[in-house]
Amino acid sequence: MTEMGTTTEVIVPYTVSNVEKCMCPKCPVQAGSSCAQEKIGNLKNEMNNLSGNEAPDTQNVPGVYCSSGEATCTDLDPNEECMCKTCEVWVGYCLERGTPMMYFCNNGKAGSLTKLG
Ligand code: SF4
Ligand code: SF4
Repeated sequence: MTEMGTTTEVIVPYTVSNVEKCMCPKCPVQAGSSCAQEKIGNLKNEMNNLSGNEAPDTQNVPGVYCSSGEATCTDLDPNEECMCKTCEVWVGYCLERGTPMMYFCNNGKAGSLTKLG
């Protein structure tokens, strides 16, 4: 979709593949969050218990916020550095041109991209 010819919507799919690529579990923003750390601890089991390409419930996944929107944990530390720039999903969906661009756990899911050229 286009708006005034300058932006286009981006939707990052909520898939097992993107859950696996997501860097959020390693992010310092979540390192001091007991809520996020508990979800990180449970995630591997959760993934193992699901069949095929079935993704876990978004509320159980401490990441892929660019797809699912703001974190449900409320004890994250936004003063630490977001790791999205190091993520294959971020690069693959050109989220460096998006709004919001990073800190999706706080800013909500990726929405629109500014077109270049
Ligand atoms: S969205 Fe960015 S700041 Fe938030 S947990 Fe993921 S990598 Fe860290
Ligand atoms: S861009 Fe950020 S929120 Fe999205 S999958 Fe990568 S690390 Fe997670």
